[in-house]
Amino acid sequence: MKTSHYSESYHEARQKFLDATTDADRRFHDPIVDDLTIDTAVYEAPNPKNILMVVSGTHGVEGYSGSAVQLHILERFKDRLNNETSLVLIHALNPYGFHHKKRVNHHRVDLNRTFHDLPADYTTGDESIDAAFDALYPILTPRRTRGAGWIESLRFYGSILPLVIRSKRSGTYGAVKNAIAGGQYRYPDAPFYGGNGAEKEVEVFHRILTEVTEGQDHLLLLDCHTGLGKRGEAVYFAANAPDSDAFKDLANIEPSFTSIVTDGTQSDEIYEAKGTLVQYALRHTRSRYASAFGLDIGTIPNIPLLSRIIAENQVHHHPDTPEPIARKVQNEFTEAFYPSSPHWRANTLKLYDDFLEKLVGKFGLG
Ligand SMILES: [Zn+2]
Repeated sequence: MKTSHYSESYHEARQKFLDATTDADRRFHDPIVDDLTIDTAVYEAPNPKNILMVVSGTHGVEGYSGSAVQLHILERFKDRLNNETSLVLIHALNPYGFHHKKRVNHHRVDLNRTFHDLPADYTTGDESIDAAFDALYPILTPRRTRGAGWIESLRFYGSILPLVIRSKRSGTYGAVKNAIAGGQYRYPDAPFYGGNGAEKEVEVFHRILTEVTEGQDHLLLLDCHTGLGKRGEAVYFAANAPDSDAFKDLANIEPSFTSIVTDGTQSDEIYEAKGTLVQYALRHTRSRYASAFGLDIGTIPNIPLLSRIIAENQVHHHPDTPEPIARKVQNEFTEAFYPSSPHWRANTLKLYDDFLEKLVGKFGLG
């Protein structure tokens, strides 16, 4: 698997994507902020019925791997799709996060918690989750300038580990995990903030989704993520309900598929989230059927991953952070979502290659 598909900057990745899609039937370039754009390439099938849509960079920095996956698809799968299957690649859905190596967008919003329809949707809708987040807020959002690494580690692990142990004993670990990572709408300065209204990236996605799926039979949407799960292994998640035919077809390809709409607590890796892109796609697609799913490729364990998300947010909100500390925090954050290991990168493409091979076969796209 080609590690040359990977880039070290947003502009390098964008250029590779544009160079690789000069033969597309249609391309869109949607500016989001500064000179940063969402770029889309559409390859229309002669007799279009199915849409294979692949999204990179919903979580900004996670797009480095997603971008490499898209180049891999252009190289290895595009010409093998049958004459009923169109290919739509959306590159860098959160181009700000991609460029600055953040998960959030320029409003510090976690894009994958903000795909909602109505103003009233920007809430967890669950008082117990809100109360759990209130209790966790001081740990998740330290109100002080970040100090040396070892002091911060002691502070973080000293507060989080007793909580994890207690919740695992009492069987509430899943609830705690959901409260932390499932998205929140009341603290703009805390991690996993889902915003309070439609972000521009959501509007762009809506326009592309509705346009390309109009009159189509089947949308297959793949959203590419990194960070969750065991290092070098894929977590397979779907927005389709567990009892739906679409979900059963996916589980047929990969038995470990988990639905994010229910039973999120059955897996240690998956949390229940609201406002995700895959759920939104199911609600808004114009196609008759849709399968909306994603892969998350594991990097480092959950708790250290959380500590790096907290640290990145803390440094952002304390501009007086000494430069060496700020740089170290950013480097560790980048490494947590975009590992530099050539082995991890090659293996990630291999995981996608295996999955796409089965997907194309199962759904008769090739
Ligand atoms: Zn993600």
